[in-house]
Amino acid sequence: MTDHVQKGMLPSELLCPNCQQKGVISGNSWHCKRCDQQYGFAIYCDTCNEPVQRLTGCGSSEHFYCRSCKTPKSRKAVLYTMTET
Ligand SMILES: [Zn+2]
Ligand SMILES: [Zn+2]
Repeated sequence: MTDHVQKGMLPSELLCPNCQQKGVISGNSWHCKRCDQQYGFAIYCDTCNEPVQRLTGCGSSEHFYCRSCKTPKSRKAVLYTMTET
């Protein structure tokens, strides 16, 4: 099982580790149409490596909150982790 960590982008801008194409996120999974490959998808705090909570109702930009650090996290600070399943 391999983890692929990307940072500093929108979840929708994540690239397939295999073919470098954008994929589709649904729930906790990420799917590359080109490779027909499914990945587990999770977002972690860059400071403590705990999963962060996604905040809704903040307009168009994505914001996250780390319960462990008690700090709001911008989308550029969190770690997007794709795990091969
Ligand atoms: Zn791919
Ligand atoms: Zn944290």
